[in-house]
Amino acid sequence: ATPISIMVAVGRAAQSGILIRNGDALQTAGRLTTIVLDKTGTVTEGKPKVVAVVPLQRWQEDEVLAWAASIEAGSEHPLAGAIVAEAEARGLEPASVTDFEAVTGKGVRAKRDGKTILFGNLALMEAEGIDCRAIVVRLDEFAEAGQTPMILVVDKEVVGIIAVADTIKPDSKDAIRRLKALGIKVWMVTGDNEKTARAIAREAGIDEVRAEVLPEDKAQVVRELQRRGEIVGMVGDGVNDAPALAQANVGFAIGTGTDIAIESGDVVIMQGSLLKVPETVKLSRATIRNIK
Ligand code: ADP
Ligand code: MG
Repeated sequence: ATPISIMVAVGRAAQSGILIRNGDALQTAGRLTTIVLDKTGTVTEGKPKVVAVVPLQRWQEDEVLAWAASIEAGSEHPLAGAIVAEAEARGLEPASVTDFEAVTGKGVRAKRDGKTILFGNLALMEAEGIDCRAIVVRLDEFAEAGQTPMILVVDKEVVGIIAVADTIKPDSKDAIRRLKALGIKVWMVTGDNEKTARAIAREAGIDEVRAEVLPEDKAQVVRELQRRGEIVGMVGDGVNDAPALAQANVGFAIGTGTDIAIESGDVVIMQGSLLKVPETVKLSRATIRNIK
């Protein structure tokens, strides 16, 4: 491609809210064979909401929520935000905890009144040796509905489940259909559990899913596809996806306003719509065609 035709295309993209940070990315975008989408905040809104609180043993619903909120108050995770917001909406007072610790891709741990609290997914409970056999059916029910169930454990006893749901962005299905029409394979990668991920993928029209992937392993998924000869585009929020965006042949950072990590990604999508990804691919193909 000539420098002029690239400049023109970069300018046109910018008018459409697509910031192309290097000319190579513009040329590679048209040759992508696989696009990997992060789930949370990319395919979905990234604004999870509490949809169910299930108390177990002798616990009350609000008690389960209050304890979960106390521990999540120290976490930056979007799931934590959903728990804290719901507790606030119900007028529950968060208590202070000590020894707070975030367990990446799994949940949180802390102490309250001398008791050890764990809150997170099944992988966290397995790692801690907590027996969750009595609740797996309940957990699966939430997951099969595309919701993310989290377990509250106090002093090794399972005392509640909180399910959170995150809706698919209105444009996601259409964008995925367009990518497939361009001959591109579409994958979704997420730290969320397998069943939840499959339910969301099914709804969005995505066939290939990699779930329960720790944030640091997302780049590994991209590398694996590249080893199979795929030219890979990765779309993510750029916060914990930065290594995967860097590993991809073209990294697309997607977001809205200030929560977007402009410094990661070859292409930055300003308005959060996944439709900008097939648009970039088309623009790239048109640019390359014109200069031949
Ligand atoms: P994603 O790929 O969707 O951004 P993460 O890797 O951040 O997911 O988290 C994976 C899973 O770990 C979540 O679906 C949740 O079950 C659990 N988890 C992570 N952080 C927390 C937290 N602060 N509270 C509860 N659960 C958590
Ligand atoms: Mg994420």
